[in-house]
Amino acid sequence: MPACSHLERITPVAAAGPAECTECAPAGDTWVHLRRCLSCGHVGCCDSSPGRHAARHFRATGHPVVVSHEPEESWGWCFPDRAFLDLTGPAGSGEGTPR
Ligand SMILES: [Zn+2]
Ligand SMILES: [Zn+2]
Ligand SMILES: [Zn+2]
Repeated sequence: MPACSHLERITPVAAAGPAECTECAPAGDTWVHLRRCLSCGHVGCCDSSPGRHAARHFRATGHPVVVSHEPEESWGWCFPDRAFLDLTGPAGSGEGTPR
């Protein structure tokens, strides 16, 4: 199923970044969930948050894929394809895996 053609073209940046929306936090705003841009590591808030900074980041930069920034979640979302991406498979590997 060709859900998304962008994911394989992205070289994911290391999983880091603040545990807060980089745009809400300085403004003192609140958010619901966080998403991290797979292209540049920008951390923004989800569409359930007032700021919707992850979506705004996509519109501003064209970076297509965000992943959940919640520690226990492994999924992503492609904005252009409106596709949910399951990242729990072995392909991604590593991120957040304790050893
Ligand atoms: Zn895509
Ligand atoms: Zn935000
Ligand atoms: Zn980005």
